[in-house]
Amino acid sequence: MKVFLGIDWGGTYIKAGIVNSNGKILKRIVYSSSSLRESRAFISEIKKIKDTFKNYHIKAVGIGAPGIINVERGSIYYLPNVPGWENFPLKTTLTKELKLPVFIDNDANIFALAEVRKGAGRGMTRAIFLTLGTGLGGAVIFDGKIIEGATSASELGHVVIDVNGQKCGCGGYGCIETFTGSNRLLEKYRKLKKMVKAPSEVKEIFDRAKAGEKEAIIVWQEFSKYLGKFLAGMVNIFNPQIIILGGGVSGAFSLFKPLLLRVLKAQAMWPQLTGLKLVKAKLNDAGIIGAALLAKEKLYPHA
Ligand SMILES: [Zn+2]
Repeated sequence: MKVFLGIDWGGTYIKAGIVNSNGKILKRIVYSSSSLRESRAFISEIKKIKDTFKNYHIKAVGIGAPGIINVERGSIYYLPNVPGWENFPLKTTLTKELKLPVFIDNDANIFALAEVRKGAGRGMTRAIFLTLGTGLGGAVIFDGKIIEGATSASELGHVVIDVNGQKCGCGGYGCIETFTGSNRLLEKYRKLKKMVKAPSEVKEIFDRAKAGEKEAIIVWQEFSKYLGKFLAGMVNIFNPQIIILGGGVSGAFSLFKPLLLRVLKAQAMWPQLTGLKLVKAKLNDAGIIGAALLAKEKLYPHA
């Protein structure tokens, strides 16, 4: 049986799993990654993970990395939250250490691949995927494939939606991420409520909005308007069959979906809206499954 090692590399954890060619996880482990911020420690941990699964005949390894990747070379430009990885040749290093083919992509692309192959977008060939968290990760599936470019395409979070907007983590101003990122939502809520300290989690604003609190409702209304306008642009460009929303902030999906859809439908060109679905991501282990499927599809592109 052909199996693949999928690695979901997050800021605080590493999840790894043995996945068969149908995308089913056969074995899974989770490590804390806080001690693996340094590249040598990370590489030796990945070697250990491979040894843990030595009873399986692994064909290739896929990794979803939390940063800006040169997909062609399999190197890391930089990781926004982890210093010291600039221009690190991860694919070359790991291929040598593991003696296996290794494929790397950014985490949003990996999540999107898993969702269109095995999750909420199963069977779809054109999909927009967003990870709504601290930032806004994005991916586009077109003609059944991830649009990955040579370096790092599909940075949807850095589309400008306000020319007079605030500074963004990317160095630009007014990106959609500055309107949908969880920290920005918390800060907006804090200001509206004139609080000294913002709540620690977006879920709190979700719960308060559900309970009818005015300020919390305003936060979600503005979020929906900006995201809806942005998505309308994406719909006009890519004509997706489905939009899939994942990440922590998508926990409030039921709350913001009605207004988001209204704004999206009012703004997008109507022929593009035919049959369009807007759904929440479905898979719990999209990072592991997507990374393994990436390895499979890169190794056997004509299968
Ligand atoms: Zn930006």
